[in-house]
Amino acid sequence: MKSLSKHYHKMRKKYPDEKIMLVFDIDDTIVDISIPLLYVLKKYDYINRTAHFRGMTQKDMVFEEWHIQDWLPDIIRDTAEQEKIVQFVRANMWLEDTILMSHRPFQGVLEIIRWFQIQANTYVGLNTGRSDSLRKITLDSLNLLGSKFRVSFSSDILYMNPMEDKVEEDIRSYKSRGLLYFQKKGYKVISFADNEPANLKVIDDVLLDPEIRLLHADTSLDPPGAYLPSRQ
Ligand SMILES: [Mg+2]
Repeated sequence: MKSLSKHYHKMRKKYPDEKIMLVFDIDDTIVDISIPLLYVLKKYDYINRTAHFRGMTQKDMVFEEWHIQDWLPDIIRDTAEQEKIVQFVRANMWLEDTILMSHRPFQGVLEIIRWFQIQANTYVGLNTGRSDSLRKITLDSLNLLGSKFRVSFSSDILYMNPMEDKVEEDIRSYKSRGLLYFQKKGYKVISFADNEPANLKVIDDVLLDPEIRLLHADTSLDPPGAYLPSRQ
């Protein structure tokens, strides 16, 4: 945070009249996705009267939503049951009740966003792999979480994956498109925070802009050091 505010002040001085923007990914950068994942797995048990995930806590969510099929064989042998759970997770992770009931911010992140939002001519953009069909619920839930911190987000600063069926590779390419989108709208983008080093690497490769500070939100399960931006 200290180095980000230093960078911000430097950029402000260099570009006194520009609309400065700091861009954040949402999932596992602002919102802790291990909580909805546990919520959905417990819901599966409840609906199906099973006990696969009984006693599990947030600490046991040591995998990402994308990789649940790789993790299930460790606890469930029946492959048909595994497949049923994978489908259930895919169908339920992004339902309105899951988002409203289980999305929680990481400690400290909304305070940081608040600080930037109250600086003059400064904007916080959101760049997410969530599909555009989730636009309203994404804004509603983030504004609900943000209200306690006097943080709010509007549709014009939210870039979403326009593809309905997202896969990891699509998300990576859309991350760089997200920053280009904000630049085209006239914002001077000075940072991008994401929990996935691969997303930061794509941005680094595509944009080649030394004034965009890339920040690894260290919340994901990617191996540390897989990619650490070299530019300071
Ligand atoms: Mg993320």
